[in-house]
Amino acid sequence: MSHITTALAITMISGAVFAEQRNAGSHVHGLNHATIVLEGNRLQIAYEFPAEQLGEQGHEEHKHEEHGDKAHELSDKLEAIESVFAIVSLPENAQCKETEVTHSLTQVGVSDTKLEGHHDALIQVILECRAPENLTNLSFEPAFERFVDLEKIEVEGVMETEALSITLTSLSSSLEL
Ligand SMILES: [Zn+2]
Repeated sequence: MSHITTALAITMISGAVFAEQRNAGSHVHGLNHATIVLEGNRLQIAYEFPAEQLGEQGHEEHKHEEHGDKAHELSDKLEAIESVFAIVSLPENAQCKETEVTHSLTQVGVSDTKLEGHHDALIQVILECRAPENLTNLSFEPAFERFVDLEKIEVEGVMETEALSITLTSLSSSLEL
């Protein structure tokens, strides 16, 4: 029975993630979204953020480049984040290993001139954890260290049967489970 509940919850959460991607209103600089689902040994993490955040580790203002170049540059910067551990740290003893990492970049605000040329970045990761019972703490401190522009992360998810919903900031960047 618990499998059915988890499957339902996952469907609901994926639905919410996709709904947000469609909604240009969710593209708010400084606000990131994380979705976490643990089912058995499998931990899925989706991390969505405004792609402009990738360029803000440096110093210079955005230049008005040709659109294609900008998207290309953003996608290079996004793919430079090779591991989800650049964003979140997990307890060592949970023994989680990444088995799949995908990156995607979506243009937002096609019908909204204010957001024209903006992009959302998405990193989706699947991990296999040998001791998922040791996943008692998840820290997004690496994300706050990496992205100077980051103010808040809205975290949603399901850990086995328990629903998760919390907003993290640099002063409160970890999640006790
Ligand atoms: Zn933007």
